[in-house]
Amino acid sequence: MSSDSIPPATTPTGGDHPADESVSFADLGLREELLAALAALGYEEPTPIQRAAIPSMLAGRDLLGQAATGTGKTAAFALPLLHRLPATRSGGNPLALVLTPTRELAVQVSEALHRYGKGIGVRVLPIYGGQPIGRQLRALELGVDVVVATPGRALDHISRGTLDLGELVTVVLDEADEMLDMGFAEEIEAILEHTPQTRQTVLFSATMPSRIDRMARQHLSDPARIEIGREAATSDTAPLVRQSAYIVARAHKPAALSRVLDVESPTATIVFCRSREEVDRLTETMNGRGYRAEALHGGMSQEQRDRVMGRLRAGTADLLVATDVAARGLDIEQLTHVVNYDVPSAPESYVHRVGRVGRAGRQGVAITLAEPREHRMLKTIERVTNRRISIERIPTVADLRTRRMELTQAALRESLLTDDLDSMRTIVETLADEFDVMEVALAAVKLAHETVTGPAEDEEEIPQVALRPARETAEGRGGAGAQGRRGERGRARSADMTPIFIGVGRRVGVRPQDLVGAITGETRLSGREIGAIEIADRFSLVEVPRAAADEVISVLRQCTIKGRRTTVRRDRDN
Ligand code: AMP
Repeated sequence: MSSDSIPPATTPTGGDHPADESVSFADLGLREELLAALAALGYEEPTPIQRAAIPSMLAGRDLLGQAATGTGKTAAFALPLLHRLPATRSGGNPLALVLTPTRELAVQVSEALHRYGKGIGVRVLPIYGGQPIGRQLRALELGVDVVVATPGRALDHISRGTLDLGELVTVVLDEADEMLDMGFAEEIEAILEHTPQTRQTVLFSATMPSRIDRMARQHLSDPARIEIGREAATSDTAPLVRQSAYIVARAHKPAALSRVLDVESPTATIVFCRSREEVDRLTETMNGRGYRAEALHGGMSQEQRDRVMGRLRAGTADLLVATDVAARGLDIEQLTHVVNYDVPSAPESYVHRVGRVGRAGRQGVAITLAEPREHRMLKTIERVTNRRISIERIPTVADLRTRRMELTQAALRESLLTDDLDSMRTIVETLADEFDVMEVALAAVKLAHETVTGPAEDEEEIPQVALRPARETAEGRGGAGAQGRRGERGRARSADMTPIFIGVGRRVGVRPQDLVGAITGETRLSGREIGAIEIADRFSLVEVPRAAADEVISVLRQCTIKGRRTTVRRDRDN
């Protein structure tokens, strides 16, 4: 096990310390293979939670972290966990166990561990209910380094004697509040009883109700405590900045960004992404969609950066796609819009980004594209910045058409007021001999419209993601016997809704309307009674009223979605 050059644990973050910003992953003392993986992924610097958590975990301390999805919490525990694995190992029982509330998160965390731990050759095994147990048994027999499991299935394996936790070095309880809300308290207790006393225990939770506090006191020993977004960010967002957010599924983000830009028609925009890789990908996508986009990230030379900035200032580019590192300290007068392509990893980062507009009394617009599961982080940012971020509906095709008409009308009005139009008189007079003047005007407006807004394209509707308002805040629900159950991705879910798992997703082109159509077409439910819909690569989750769940399941099992029969069942770990 290598544990060289581990710097002393830093104090919890949350403040706005410029000095922290220069901390790199290498400064945190992570081993070479991990640094190489992070560089390949285009991560330029650790997020605040990573800066705070990694040194403590590397030093072997227990950790209690309050952080929601979107803060980079997965890497915050995954990197030190991987760092502490021995260099070579074959066979053997797991050295680390990550417990997650849902199979979906178990898969995500396993994938992240794989990505970061490629160079280490880590063997990661996700185990969750619903997956054939045979495959899990074979993998466990061959030996694994890290198991990522939902509590039910983990306990199942323990009682069968197929999962031996006797050699565990680290246990991570990820989204612990969710696990308690889903009724896994007893399973977690039972699992921890099978682990060595000497283990390192890490608990991450988006909220810290008293039950989590009790759990931490019972199972963690002198933990480092980390909170993201507690302290107010020092620089306040300029009051002249209009702040809004759109909730949009990942797959629809490029279309949503284009739509929002078309409706906003900004002079110049900076779009923030999390990694170099995403910057490059999005720049290419947006250029393909007809925008003049330029990439700006930490991997570029000063000369390349200067060229990009030159193009933006000269107006030959109107979209700058950048990482936080690259955009630090930029002051571009032309900027009117800041777009967060993802919710920033901490409120301070939001404040920094938004600070690129609304300077010196100028007006500005800040737009955030958030995935449904990042909704909680938006709330944290609102709380910390003490400014409202209004959640808006993604403009529809009809909204876009209306906006284009307005632009054309405005351009014509300006021309009528300011241009010398006399040179056009002969054309109108000649055509007027043959056509009605109104007709002539209509034809001229049509031509102008196409020049102003481009030719009419076949626009697609972007699915709206419905967010059910939280009936009670998680913090307010504290004690045992909580009424509502929260969705697996940090959303509030009312007690009378339940998620249904459907075994097809984006891979086969499933869209929300396909699921709504199948359900409303075959059951007595109307579209309005269907709750949040999440479409992942290989499966989808649809919230339906608990009372109708059985009906929905049996009907969907009989019908085809995108031409195929598929697994349909309640989304509970089993
Ligand atoms: P999480 O909060 O763990 O769900 O992570 C949110 C997203 O941020 C994931 O897509 C990660 O791949 C990404 N991410 C995590 N850490 C970093 C980082 N230091 N730089 C860029 N992206 C990151």
